[in-house]
Amino acid sequence: MQEHEKQQLAGPFPDELVLRSDAALGVGNNPISDSSYHGSDSLAVIEEVIHRAYLSKLVGEEGLRIVECIPGEEITDERLAELTGISLNTVRRTLYLLYEHRLAIYRRKRDPDSGWLTYLWQLCPENFDKALESEAKRLLRKLEERLVYEKENIFYACTEGCARFVFDEASDANFVCPFCQGSLEYMENAKVVEAIEKQIKDLKACL
Ligand SMILES: [Zn+2]
Repeated sequence: MQEHEKQQLAGPFPDELVLRSDAALGVGNNPISDSSYHGSDSLAVIEEVIHRAYLSKLVGEEGLRIVECIPGEEITDERLAELTGISLNTVRRTLYLLYEHRLAIYRRKRDPDSGWLTYLWQLCPENFDKALESEAKRLLRKLEERLVYEKENIFYACTEGCARFVFDEASDANFVCPFCQGSLEYMENAKVVEAIEKQIKDLKACL
């Protein structure tokens, strides 16, 4: 069974960002495992998660690697391709995508000897902050909806770990898992509620 199918059964929000953040923030059984989150305090982790989720949605995973290699000063597209090992075409596509979203700017410079044009790129940190703030607000709304859903429902889960169901779904299925025919048993969700409440509190502190 696919992960997204499970998630759709588990909640009304098959939203990619929320799911991504769920995994990264440790709702459910997914602890923060990415090594880049080591030792960060929780605010920094949350900012990092929002930042990555937002960017990867915009420019994809390769694009995210490119963005992470852009220094605080100007850099050429060729140099970025060298640094990341990603094709120049992809680097350029990513940079123009960032440009369209006002997250990067460029300046053209003509080489006095060859006459070739070089593009010098730079990120726009102030626009990043604005974009991230609206992304954080969107995430906050999703988390608040999710919290209500968790508090208003009683959950049953397959003992084999296939999926989680709300009471009505479990009851309609006679408490038999539709995927593996295993039994569906009551599942405590206080930990999930607690984790979401903590995320909401931390997220509010970021805004
Ligand atoms: Zn099952």
